[in-house]
Amino acid sequence: MSHTLLQQDLNMHAADAALVELLAKNDSDVAELMAQEAVRQATTLELIASENHVSAPVMRAMGSWLTNKYAEGYPGKRYYGGCEFHDQIEDIARERAKQLFNCGYANVQPHSGANANVAAFMAMCAPGDTILSLPIKSGGHLSHGLKPNFSGTFYNIVDYDLDPESECLDYEAIAEKARQCQPKMIICGYSAYSRVIDFARFREIADEVGAVLMADIAHIAGLVAAGVHPSPFPHAHIVTTTTHKTLRGPRGGLVLCDDQDIATKVDRKVFPGSQGGPLMHIIAAKAIAFKEALDPSFKIYSQQVIDNAQALAASLVARGYRLCSGGTDNHLMLVDLQPRSASLTGADAELWLENAGIIVNKNGIPNDPRPPMVTSGLRLGTPALTSRGMGTKEMETVADLLDRVMLASGDAELTEKVRGEVATLCAAFPLPH
Ligand SMILES: *Cc1c(COP(=O)(O)O)cnc(C)c1O
Repeated sequence: MSHTLLQQDLNMHAADAALVELLAKNDSDVAELMAQEAVRQATTLELIASENHVSAPVMRAMGSWLTNKYAEGYPGKRYYGGCEFHDQIEDIARERAKQLFNCGYANVQPHSGANANVAAFMAMCAPGDTILSLPIKSGGHLSHGLKPNFSGTFYNIVDYDLDPESECLDYEAIAEKARQCQPKMIICGYSAYSRVIDFARFREIADEVGAVLMADIAHIAGLVAAGVHPSPFPHAHIVTTTTHKTLRGPRGGLVLCDDQDIATKVDRKVFPGSQGGPLMHIIAAKAIAFKEALDPSFKIYSQQVIDNAQALAASLVARGYRLCSGGTDNHLMLVDLQPRSASLTGADAELWLENAGIIVNKNGIPNDPRPPMVTSGLRLGTPALTSRGMGTKEMETVADLLDRVMLASGDAELTEKVRGEVATLCAAFPLPH
């Protein structure tokens, strides 16, 4: 695939096209696959709730010369020489993170959200301590206590659950669970929960039993930063997040807190506790993304993400789907497919939609009668489509495309037709750069 083709047809950034061209000369295998992935991203609708499209400056910083440097330690206290500029970049990233989340302290080094959680667990708990969390089957994250994960291996995990009727957090039941198990730490913040989290209520529960409150805002960080979802501060003792979901930064993690003692522990548990050298190219990209998120335009973007989610949700309900918990307050929704078609599974829907150029993930719904690799639901999110500039009008179109594909059971002709409509829609909303 030629770079001029990529640039002209996909509206690709010149620097990305130049990379493909450069790579084509010495590694055509990877170059070709990267080019194909660029085409895939440009010509499909991304509805995976945890994904987004970063800006050109964030993208460029990630592929920069900053990757060449070892900077183990922290600004002013490094184990390697030559860190003068890295110190300043990391300081800027930390200051912007604190400003963005309105807190006293930030560690910007975690390589990912799961790594941020490793450091937070190590800072707040000893191996064997009891941690109260929502299991993955109900919308939690694997790093909150799944057996094969570090969290389930080294800590005593006790589950709380959603209310079976409302499919929402049941704070009274969580308080009762906390009284029973007397946890060292309670975790709130989820991967597939579409309602507002009452952090103040969680803090009351934690205080009653003398537990630490950890908020993992990986999914909603951008909404929190923009002020369109309540902040975990000042309620949570420790906050972790990814930087690549609604926050629209590079793939990475972050630990935030207000307390100096907790901050000191977190720093030690990130490095040398669980990581070696920081990814300075990623930290620079985080700093850039934080500046973007501090700009008033990010609030407009984030509100549009929510408006789009609500528009998509309403359009799906109008077509006979059921939304878990009855709706959404944030960027995502969990769609129960059963009322629309008793035989429709999440796995089939995911595959048929992908063939039509619509990328989603199957997701178990509360008390799903089907196993985790099949499921009866889809998790849909609007951050990526909103970054392309789509609005509520396009969400109605997207709901129509989703529904037609899911009802056609993989019919080849219908799939081709929708694939064409998807390509047209994508061409009207090129990827940001
Ligand atoms: C995505 C997510 C993470 C982990 O992020 P990675 O960067 O993939 O490790 C952690 N917690 C929650 C709630 C998430 O949704």
